[in-house]
Amino acid sequence: MIKIPFSKVTCDGNELNYVTDVLKSGWLTTASKALALEQRFVDYTGAKYACAMNSCTAALHLGLEAMGVREGDKVFVPAMTFTATAEVVRYLNADPVFLDVEYGTNLITPAILQDAIKRYPEVRYLIVVHFGGHPAEMVNASQTGIADICKEHGIRVLEDAAHAFPASINGHRIGGIGDVTCFSFYANKTITTGEGGMLTTNDEEIFRRVKIMRLHGINRDVWDRFTSDKPSWEYDVVAPGFKYNMPDLNAAIGLAQMERAEMFRADRQRIAEYYYKELADLPCLELPGCKVPHEDHAWHLFPVVLNRLSPLSRNRVVEMLSERGIGTSVHYKPIYRMSYYRDLIGADERLFPNCEKTWQGTFSLPIYPLLSVDELDYIVNSIWEILV
Ligand SMILES: *Cc1c(COP(=O)(O)O)cnc(C)c1O
Repeated sequence: MIKIPFSKVTCDGNELNYVTDVLKSGWLTTASKALALEQRFVDYTGAKYACAMNSCTAALHLGLEAMGVREGDKVFVPAMTFTATAEVVRYLNADPVFLDVEYGTNLITPAILQDAIKRYPEVRYLIVVHFGGHPAEMVNASQTGIADICKEHGIRVLEDAAHAFPASINGHRIGGIGDVTCFSFYANKTITTGEGGMLTTNDEEIFRRVKIMRLHGINRDVWDRFTSDKPSWEYDVVAPGFKYNMPDLNAAIGLAQMERAEMFRADRQRIAEYYYKELADLPCLELPGCKVPHEDHAWHLFPVVLNRLSPLSRNRVVEMLSERGIGTSVHYKPIYRMSYYRDLIGADERLFPNCEKTWQGTFSLPIYPLLSVDELDYIVNSIWEILV
């Protein structure tokens, strides 16, 4: 019986070596490996600062807090995303203002943002999601990108790049552009530490605040306390902070993954190109829109949409693929359809025509380096069998 999971981690590089080093060192929590991973992100993204955390959700939370989001503030959030993107707004007792996304890419575009600013001129914060690894148009040649619009209107922008490592937009690496960018190293993401996340920023004030809030609001980190000349018991608490630091055990896995991040990305790109080629002639199946060179895309997801020509419903197609041993997933049920946000905001589905059109027919195909050519053939052939 063939079994192709939706997602599978590649962990056969230096992961075991580096984790063994940490175990032997006798120091398992945050120290030199986490620092080294932060430095790798600074080097790679071009951001001035990086802060390793135990999840992307933690990074999103502290990023918004450091940007100044407070109780009662409103934050633009794309409606097509994972729930973590919106929940962090609620952690701070602020309110998400959900925006419909572009059909085909599921992105916030400069045009969507301009329109949102007209309708909600009071909103001072924006979260952008680089959906599926496709970078949103943060910057462009005519200085009319999302970051430019935000600057012009005094809006601070946080990039949820949970899907987008590594990725670039118009010559700029994701992570080095906006006020704050957050990456995820959850087990099914493009690189993993098991659980983990990274915040990058060019703003020193944000960096200092995030670092303090990452560890109980203490004004010295643990590593510093055990390595500097000052007595280790001596510290002040400046806020009721959180416990969001990344242990070295996890950072060790991340350092090994970083060594092959580009190779993983190239593998996923080849899989995406194979799907584009082999599924292009199925009129009932719409393939993901791509507006950047394939090399700039992280290819974390390959979300397809069944249109009106489909003989079968999305749920039935997902079921039939599952019967053939092929794992798929759905990205996403739009957030305003979740009961918590329905009760909180009571959003009208008609305000989100693109999310609705996508949601009814979308499902995501497996896309990860360990997929073999035979498995890819089998997936493509199964889709053809089911849909014609
Ligand atoms: C996975 C994901 C997150 C959360 O990442 P964690 O590291 O699991 O906290 C946030 N946003 C999006 C879009 C995600 O897909």
